[in-house]
Amino acid sequence: MRTLVGMTKLELEAVAVELGEPTYRGGQLAKWLYEKGARSFDDMSDLPKAFRAKLVEGFKVSALEYVTHREAPDGTTKFLYRAPDGREIESVWIPYPDRVTACISSQVGCAMKCTFCATGQLGFERNLTSGEIVDQVLAMQAQLGRRISNIVYMGMGEPLLNYDNVMASVRLLNKSVGIAMRQITISTVGIVPKIKQLAAEKLQLTLALSVHAPNDALRDQLVPVNTKFTLAELYDAVKEYEQITNRRVTLEYIMLKGVNDQPLHAAQLIKWSRGLHVHVNLIPFHPTGSDFDATSNAEIRKFARQMEDAGFPTAVRAERGLEIEAACGQLKRQLATQGS
Ligand code: SAH
Repeated sequence: MRTLVGMTKLELEAVAVELGEPTYRGGQLAKWLYEKGARSFDDMSDLPKAFRAKLVEGFKVSALEYVTHREAPDGTTKFLYRAPDGREIESVWIPYPDRVTACISSQVGCAMKCTFCATGQLGFERNLTSGEIVDQVLAMQAQLGRRISNIVYMGMGEPLLNYDNVMASVRLLNKSVGIAMRQITISTVGIVPKIKQLAAEKLQLTLALSVHAPNDALRDQLVPVNTKFTLAELYDAVKEYEQITNRRVTLEYIMLKGVNDQPLHAAQLIKWSRGLHVHVNLIPFHPTGSDFDATSNAEIRKFARQMEDAGFPTAVRAERGLEIEAACGQLKRQLATQGS
């Protein structure tokens, strides 16, 4: 069985031709899958019955199977999906009055082993296909009956280590699903050569860098990949990204009590960021069974003020979905075992 979600319009046209249909039927398929949100061949009412019968024999529509979900009081909803090989991933639906953001996964597990992150503790299993990445968006939209406007690649996995599939999914979400490039954010732990490769694509998407520490000694401990790509190299990569794309990069900085949240750390971060046109996003730490504690709100505000005073626009990330372990860094596929 081949899966249709994940195929480009060109690939869908090739499928149509392969099944003895005119090319334009591929375009119709693309519309049904990506614009109208069809989840089965029965939904595709303007396709001839004979064509649908041929499709059913060799193809399935979606790449993921819904397993379960949990909804927090604020509407944030965490979904568990199963891939054809039985592996499971989580995706998060984050509604606002005027928009919906989807936080999606790019890998099953993650190899980066960031010490504060639940996904890092799982280890790496495999890359998701572009179809599996896009299908998280389509499946959530179909189930909740509302369109997603913003995408953040901040679920499980390191998107830039699954570069080709992630970029194929970005193009599908943009061109076929209709999500504006500027509403798509890729968050990376800082894979320097891939940041440069992404810069060269000159896309208008947003790059977020999980910097989390202002000096190499501390960053080596929190984000082990720092031993490979140092802060100095990251600075150059961010600079290059800015210059080529003309986009502001977001710096994500997790606030760990007594570890990286002191005025000295803010001063070092300011020094490192000099000359970059970055936004700073401070992320309250969410419990993951690791040894860290969260910085108090008052201390986070102090750190934010210090950054602002130095000229860096700084926001504190709103905590969404904490009650259902859907907040940043908490995705670890526990839904099924929690029996919800
Ligand atoms: N691998 C990518 C994307 C996944 S993580 C990256 O590293 O950016 C998305 C964001 O959540 C990252 O900034 C990550 O560092 C942060 N995060 C991880 N664990 C967290 C935790 N326990 N509390 C708060 N944020 C966390």
